[in-house]
Amino acid sequence: MLINIIIFTLVIIVVAYLWNSYNKANKKEWTAVDAAFSEAWKTILLKNVSFYDALTNEQKINFEKQVLTFLHNVKITGVKTSISDEDKLMVAASAIIPIFGFPNWQYPNVREVLIYPNSFDDEFQFEGNEGEKQILGMVGNKHMDGVVILSQKALRLGFQNETDKKNTAIHEFVHLIDMSDGNVDGIPTVIMDKQYAMPWVDLIHKEINRIYENESDINPYGATNNAEFLAVISEYFFERPDLLEKKHPKLYALLEKTFNQDMDEHYKKMK
Ligand SMILES: [Zn+2]
Repeated sequence: MLINIIIFTLVIIVVAYLWNSYNKANKKEWTAVDAAFSEAWKTILLKNVSFYDALTNEQKINFEKQVLTFLHNVKITGVKTSISDEDKLMVAASAIIPIFGFPNWQYPNVREVLIYPNSFDDEFQFEGNEGEKQILGMVGNKHMDGVVILSQKALRLGFQNETDKKNTAIHEFVHLIDMSDGNVDGIPTVIMDKQYAMPWVDLIHKEINRIYENESDINPYGATNNAEFLAVISEYFFERPDLLEKKHPKLYALLEKTFNQDMDEHYKKMK
């Protein structure tokens, strides 16, 4: 009798332990890090990321915390190339910039970023660049769930040229935000208030028509579909908010609400 009770108790303990481990493994919640942000890393961000440079001191601390958490939870791997701290910090910055207005938001769909030296081929998908068939970045589909691929060249160029309204890495992370509700449809319901979804789609369609008629300064790749439009216009929003507000005030206003960021104050300080 006693032996039965002991065995029964042991079984319960083992099952509880396994259940707990299973839940932990499947939760995918990011773990927080309690580490200081090094001066060397601050210097790298100041030099490369004008979005960060324009933040207040308090905001900078929050940005650094989010960067550390990202790097602690997402692996960044160079494929046939070596990657520097600059590269890692640019990847993290690209991930954090679009969700900076939501300090506790975590990407549920990324565990690794692969960095390729230049563009790469893929038979299924490519991110067009002025009609060239080359991939600058892509997010994992069912073959590569949880993986983002970026071209090192495009990653660096995205931060070097801060006037061309292009930033491949931000583009890819915006796709991840868009798809985290299960639909890649250009309506990022995880961050966009429901009431803005219809006006947003309406604005997208109007602007896509203008792209077709050659009347828009927005990267024509955005006319591919609603999801690409969101990714492309977000690059524009975070890189040239001043110009976007001037040329597309309605898109600008809706993006400010969606990303929960006051870019008016911010961009005046951007270089
Ligand atoms: Zn895209």
